[in-house]
Amino acid sequence: MVVKFKTRKRVEAIAPYVLGKSLEEIKIENGLSQIRKLSENENIYGCSPEVKKWISFEGSDLNLYPDGMAVELTKKVSDFFKVDQDQLVFGNGSDEVIRLLTRAYISEGEEAIMADVTFPRYQTNVYLEGGTPVIVPLENGIHHLENMLEAITKKTKMIFVCNPNNPTGTIVGRDELLSFIKKVPEHILVVIDEAYVEYVSTDDFLHTVPLVEQFENLIVLRTFSKIYGLAGLRIGFGIMNKEITEQLRKVKDVFNVSRLAQGAARVALEDQAFIKKCSENNLKGRKFLEGSFQKMGLNYFPSQSNFIMVDCEQNGDVVARGLMKKGIIVRSGTLLGYPTTLRVTIGSDEDNHYFIESLTQVLKGV
Ligand SMILES: *Cc1c(COP(=O)(O)O)cnc(C)c1O
Repeated sequence: MVVKFKTRKRVEAIAPYVLGKSLEEIKIENGLSQIRKLSENENIYGCSPEVKKWISFEGSDLNLYPDGMAVELTKKVSDFFKVDQDQLVFGNGSDEVIRLLTRAYISEGEEAIMADVTFPRYQTNVYLEGGTPVIVPLENGIHHLENMLEAITKKTKMIFVCNPNNPTGTIVGRDELLSFIKKVPEHILVVIDEAYVEYVSTDDFLHTVPLVEQFENLIVLRTFSKIYGLAGLRIGFGIMNKEITEQLRKVKDVFNVSRLAQGAARVALEDQAFIKKCSENNLKGRKFLEGSFQKMGLNYFPSQSNFIMVDCEQNGDVVARGLMKKGIIVRSGTLLGYPTTLRVTIGSDEDNHYFIESLTQVLKGV
C-alpha cells in the first residue's frame, strides 16, 4: 500500500491489525443462537459477584481522574503478595507493563531473548523500541532455558519467560527455572510473565514473587484479566526491584489505570474464594479435555493453565471454521507456527462436552 504519511520504519514493518468479525456477525452468518467463545482464555465464570456489586455503586465518581499512583490498590496488593509498596507498578493490562519495560530499558540495537512461540507482545514491543528480538524455539512446547542462556550476548538486555506459556499452556520445572535465574548475569532483566499462575496445579512450579527481594533483576508480571475476570477493565501489574519501578513510573501515562479498574481489582483480590472455585473448576475441565483428547488419539501439550493446545492432525484453520459453524470459537495454531493445532480455552462442563462432541464431528468431516 502506498502511504501518504511516512511512518517510522519499524511501524511500517509491522503487519496491519485485521479486525475480526464481531460475535453478533458470526451468529447471524451461521444462523446460531449461542456462541461459546473459547478463544481468548478469559474467565468463563465472569468475575466475583462482589465486583459487580461494587461497580454498580461506583459510577458516581466518574468525573474524577483516577489516582495516578493507585495508592489504595498498591496497599492492598502489597499486603496480599507480601511485597513492598515501592515494588509495584500497575498498568492498563500487564500488556502495558511489558511496554513500559521495553520503553524504559530497550535501546536501539539491544537484544531481548524470548521463546517461539510465546505471547506476541514481547516481540512487538522490543521491535518498536529499535531492539532485536532473539527468538529461541520451544522444545515440546516448553521454554528451552539452556538454549536461552546460550543466546545471551553482550547486547542482551532482557529475557522473557512466559510461565505458564501462552499458547502452549506448559510450564518450566521449578529447579530448572531457579537455576536459570541464578545463571543469568545480574545486569540482564528477567521478566517472568505469570498471567495464568492461579491455574497452576503442580508442585513443580517456582513461586517467583518471594524471589524478587533476592534477585534485583527479576520482574514478575501478573494480571487481573484472566482468572480475576476483569479483562474488559484492563489492569495488570509488575512486581520488581524498586529501582526499576521508579524508572517505569517515569515512563507511564499519568492516569494509566482507570478508577473502575483500580477499585474493581481491589474488590476482586479480596474474594479469593471465587478464585479458588474457578481454579478448581478449571482443573476438572482440564482433566476432562485432556482425557478426551487421549481417547480420541490426539496429542496435546500438557497444560497448567486455562487453555490447551491440541494437535488435530488437520489444518487448524479448517477445523476452527468447522467449529465456528457449530457455535464454538477457538484459536487456530496456523499463525502460531503449529498449523495443525487449535488452542482452546477450557470452558464450563457443558462447554467442554459440547466442544469435544463438535470436534469429533468436525474431524470426521460431519
Ligand atoms: C493475556 C495475557 C497477558 C495480559 O493481559 P492484560 O489483559 O494486558 O493484562 C499477558 N501475558 C500473557 C501471556 C497473556 O496470555
